[in-house]
Amino acid sequence: MTRADDTSHIHPPLRSQEPFQTVAMPVERASTIVFRDLEAFERRAERVYDGFSYGLYGTPTSRQLEDHIAQLEGGVRALVVPSGMAALTLATMAVCQGGDRVLVPETLYGPARDMVLRFLGPLGIETTSYDPRLDAEIAPLLDTRTRLVWVESPGSATFEVQDVPAIVAAAHRAGALVAADNTWASHLLFKPLAHGVDISMQALSKHAGGHGDLLLGSLAVRDEALFRRLKDTARFLGYGVSPEDCVLCERGLMTMPVRMRHAAVTAQAVMSWLAGRDEVSRILHPSQPDHPGHPVWKRDFAGSAAVFSLVLRPELAPLQAEALHRMRLFRLGASWGGVHSLIAVSDPRKGRTSLDWLPSGPVWRLSIGLEALEDLLADLETAFASFAEATRSQPGHTSGRAAE
Ligand SMILES: *Cc1c(COP(=O)(O)O)cnc(C)c1O
Repeated sequence: MTRADDTSHIHPPLRSQEPFQTVAMPVERASTIVFRDLEAFERRAERVYDGFSYGLYGTPTSRQLEDHIAQLEGGVRALVVPSGMAALTLATMAVCQGGDRVLVPETLYGPARDMVLRFLGPLGIETTSYDPRLDAEIAPLLDTRTRLVWVESPGSATFEVQDVPAIVAAAHRAGALVAADNTWASHLLFKPLAHGVDISMQALSKHAGGHGDLLLGSLAVRDEALFRRLKDTARFLGYGVSPEDCVLCERGLMTMPVRMRHAAVTAQAVMSWLAGRDEVSRILHPSQPDHPGHPVWKRDFAGSAAVFSLVLRPELAPLQAEALHRMRLFRLGASWGGVHSLIAVSDPRKGRTSLDWLPSGPVWRLSIGLEALEDLLADLETAFASFAEATRSQPGHTSGRAAE
């Protein structure tokens, strides 16, 4: 090795700067960003909110995705962060300090409920849970210390739709901001900012990513000052995003409307099929006329997502594991909104006081992907056949139990 080798391995030959144009979004990586002159270098802190100062604070790739999300959300600015969970934590920490209070619906995404209680609680930020069915009736819960009200509509697992405009009016009257976890609907089916919400949050990991292989979250806002508060908090926490992930997200966005439209049609057909089955006592989805919040969903939403829950008859609980094991297309796993159909089993009754309307029995959350409807129904039929089989293969099952 010679001395020249050290330098030549770092500085490749310069190629001509012939313009290169493509429809593909380039991946521009950076930790280091270099400056034209000393003055630009010394003034780099001014570029934290726009432009480029250091890779952690933004690259052309991440800024492009942020501009795109802001436009799609009907906002002024947007911030992209490493996950939906990061977005939930960031928004809460940017708005609340020790001594403040945050209101969260009982239906808030489970890990976020854990975060406010176990992470922000010890920092002096107090959390109050509320029944997601409250509308203007939320007012008495808002005191002078309440800085932020989270809504998640429809809510996790049970899909109650919230009266967001009524909650926003009450919160603003009390001087609190409203943040919406809009992951289920996405900007395509509900526009929180247009309904008065201050911070619209999405887990881009779901519908936007769309293929079960991406983690990103976003926060969109209507005003620059709030954006700067969020951006500062993101800086302090050291949140940055990979440009590869941003490009994957842009790719997902391109097909998102088509995927969501198609999956929603399949999901409606799956729900109709399930409604005719004895094994199922209830379907939880805002499009169902018997579902809490159906009228508000019809009033405020532009359509529905292919994610819903079903309640099985309680006596099927011990037979679930075998039924789930027999399915080939529906895989057992968290997350949703992708091309693969998924089932997640949860107990939404844990920690909830507002579920008197829910029949007892196991709850399965289904995310309908892009597989053919007939194949998905056959897969569910296989699962349900195992219920019948198990019941038949236990002669005296009923009388034996009754005698105990
Ligand atoms: C998945 C999800 C999140 C968290 O998103 P991640 O990117 O997985 O951290 C937040 N809210 C809702 C409603 C979700 O479904």
